[in-house]
Amino acid sequence: MSRSALITGITGQDGSYLAELLVSKSYEVHGLIRRASTFNTERIDHLYGDPHLSGVPIRLHYGDLSDGTGLRRVLELVKPDEVYNLGAQSHVRVSFDQPEYTADVVATGTLRLLEALRDYIATSGKQVRFYQAGSSEMFGAALPPQNEKTPFHPRSPYAVSKVAAHYFVQNYREAYGMFLCNGILFNHESPRRGETFVTRKITRALGRIKLGLQEKLYLGNLEAKRDWGFAGDYVQAMWLMLQQDQPDDYVVSTGESYSVRDFLESAFNYVDLKWQDYVEIDKRYFRPSEVDFLMGDSSKARQKLGWKPCVNFDSLLKMMVDHDLELAKREKTLINAGHKVICGGRW
Ligand code: NAP
Ligand code: GDP
Repeated sequence: MSRSALITGITGQDGSYLAELLVSKSYEVHGLIRRASTFNTERIDHLYGDPHLSGVPIRLHYGDLSDGTGLRRVLELVKPDEVYNLGAQSHVRVSFDQPEYTADVVATGTLRLLEALRDYIATSGKQVRFYQAGSSEMFGAALPPQNEKTPFHPRSPYAVSKVAAHYFVQNYREAYGMFLCNGILFNHESPRRGETFVTRKITRALGRIKLGLQEKLYLGNLEAKRDWGFAGDYVQAMWLMLQQDQPDDYVVSTGESYSVRDFLESAFNYVDLKWQDYVEIDKRYFRPSEVDFLMGDSSKARQKLGWKPCVNFDSLLKMMVDHDLELAKREKTLINAGHKVICGGRW
């Protein structure tokens, strides 16, 4: 019998890579999807198909982390062996504009899912393993290198909410003996990264600038340093955490840190452009409180899980730029055919 997994946030960057990984391991993969007035399955369209047909690798179920009753129903329907809680309002800057909503989905949403899972385990007698998508943002102002023992100092409503979720998971593990793991993942990117996160915002704009479709790129703080890895590598770590004998918490990172300015410079150099000719600073992209320097120490994950990243900073950057040059070429074809394409201007 194949194992089944439920992924919240399956339509997001990580959800799509994780779904691919689990399908490749012959899991029956189920995903929670939010109702939207437009299609929101672009990242998983290659895995998803008409549910009336057999052989479709993933199944989607409407649900939302703000709706506990729905979460319970989905758990009862799917009967998962593993649950990956990746759903979140995941943008730090937006969390300053929508703090209550962010807390409701990220912190209370995790609690709702844990409560539903606790009851499901009690009634079904099934041992279900659970992964919580924690973030290096929880470390915030704590000095690098950050590891599992570093005290949290969150700097945004998003980070505070992730800290709450982290402690809910630890508390439920201690109180009820549930198999629950916190991943503390440092920033991870890919060609599927949301276009308002800084790396993708840069590579997306760069593709358009290179093809003459955009003149300027507006950014905020260029001095912040991040430990950027590849999302495809990081979902492996999520899965590995749930395959261990005991539940635990793990930092997942590359151990290398670069500034936004470094990323910008390397990306523009790669296509023979000077970023200074195109980039302007716009104060609205600054955060009310910033996280200056993240660099993870993932020794524990490397030793206990046997995990290590395969894609380094240069390869990640080139992968993203190459992808977005291709996208810009397609956009140019559309524009030449008379279509209107809107870009830029968001967080
Ligand atoms: P993402 O691309 O923004 O995807 C977020 C996912 O959550 C989407 O599928 C989204 O659905 C879903 N979602 C949003 N609000 C929801 C709600 N109320 N109920 C149910 N689902 C909801 O994020 P990601 O980069 O894949 O990250 C995955 C998880 O890891 C997130 O929890 C994030 O906070 C965390 N994390 C990410 C990083 C990183 O660098 N990427 C680092 C550390 C931790 P829609 O598609 O409908 O919007
Ligand atoms: P985060 O680490 O989860 O906040 O990921 P982001 O990719 O959103 O931001 C990484 C860093 O880039 C933060 O320190 C931001 O302040 C900085 N940054 C500079 N300009 C921008 C911008 O235009 N958009 C975003 N999203 N971040 C920016």
